[in-house]
Amino acid sequence: MKKIFVAVITAIFMTATFATVLAGNYVGNANSKKFHLSDCSSVGKMNPKNRVDFQTRDEAISAGYVPCKRCNP
Ligand SMILES: [Zn+2]
Repeated sequence: MKKIFVAVITAIFMTATFATVLAGNYVGNANSKKFHLSDCSSVGKMNPKNRVDFQTRDEAISAGYVPCKRCNP
């Protein structure tokens, strides 16, 4: 029974990690028009409805976003 529990927790953790990778390395704020590295502290404070994910830096810039001064993406 305990083994099943550990397997379920591991599966959830793996899925969450995979989803983070898929979400991209750069996160834009549709409100401020700035983009951040995904681990920038501003990303955590951002309203989820303003969050825009980008796979590449070029993608964010061509969408009209400017780099954050704090995380310098
Ligand atoms: Zn930032």
